[in-house]
Amino acid sequence: MSVQAASADRTALHAFLAAHQRFLLTTHVNPDGDAIGSEIAFARMLRAMGKDVRILNDSPTPHAFAWLAAHGPVEVYDETLAEACFAEADALVVLDTSNRQRIGRLAPHIGRHVISVAIVDHHATHDGFGQVNVVEPDCAAAAVLVFELMREAGIAIDPIAAEALYVGLSTDTGDFRYSNTDARALHMAAALVECGVHVSRVVQRVEQSAPAGRLRMHGEALAALELRSGGQLVVLEVGPEQFVRHGLVGADTEGLVDRPRSIEGVEAVALFSEVEAGKVKVSLRSTGRVAVDGVCSRHGGGGHVHAAGVQMRGTREQARERILPHLEQLLAELPPRPTEGAHA
Ligand code: 5GP
Ligand code: MN
Repeated sequence: MSVQAASADRTALHAFLAAHQRFLLTTHVNPDGDAIGSEIAFARMLRAMGKDVRILNDSPTPHAFAWLAAHGPVEVYDETLAEACFAEADALVVLDTSNRQRIGRLAPHIGRHVISVAIVDHHATHDGFGQVNVVEPDCAAAAVLVFELMREAGIAIDPIAAEALYVGLSTDTGDFRYSNTDARALHMAAALVECGVHVSRVVQRVEQSAPAGRLRMHGEALAALELRSGGQLVVLEVGPEQFVRHGLVGADTEGLVDRPRSIEGVEAVALFSEVEAGKVKVSLRSTGRVAVDGVCSRHGGGGHVHAAGVQMRGTREQARERILPHLEQLLAELPPRPTEGAHA
């Protein structure tokens, strides 16, 4: 996307915000820190403009972000509530996804109401189903876009909006360690600290909120990790029995797929997580050289070049058969790693 096209879309979004009064915000199923953080900050921007705002998501907010969602408030889908929200709103803004199916049970409500739709997203795979689509894959997080839109609109970023944006930025960049971490993300982090973010306090709230069972389950999965493709690929699995035994939900796999990145020589990690028998969530990660989004989009999923996912029906074994050969082929095609000491 050219810079010019992006700014034309942003101009259209500002006009969209000016033209509407009663906003409904939503995001993708199983929201992460970027999804919740972007919603909270966007809501604060709209309220500062004098707009009415509600936030409604398909799935509950993970415990790690509940303190942030309290500023929304972030409501969770039920049919009657959704009908009321759609009936009273004149505009829907979808954050951190541009895939209609990814907003889950809210999707069918769009067709039943006269409502304008705008999208603010940073994913490479998108339908762009809004009247206005601000989709910029070169942004490390949707929060980057929201931050820049707030500045363009001349809305002051108060400490709560700053914390929300920091949560989005830091979680989507793996605390500024993943390949999407760029100068823009780091400048934004500095600006947010100037707006009142206490980094250690945010980290404490987000990272020190896990139940002990989550670590036990991660431990089991990591103890059983498989190395394939000559050590380039790590495969992890978690099954329904483990979720039940440790009293956990799907969101408790958070962070697991990222751990094996630390193994020397690893290019990609695949996690097959089966919370409910017959429903497998596949998460793929690349350490930077192999593009994994195509493997997921081929099966109806998507994401980013180096972090992608897809939901599949069937057993873990069937999901593995659909995903791993393609991934192993991509790894086989990789040129050898530059030898140590040969820094460009
Ligand atoms: P995760 O593996 O952490 O769930 O997701 C990694 C990335 O892939 C995120 O950017 C997420 O939005 C995207 N992603 C995960 N699952 C799906 C899916 O089922 N469909 C699409 N389109 N994207 C997904
Ligand atoms: Mn995101």
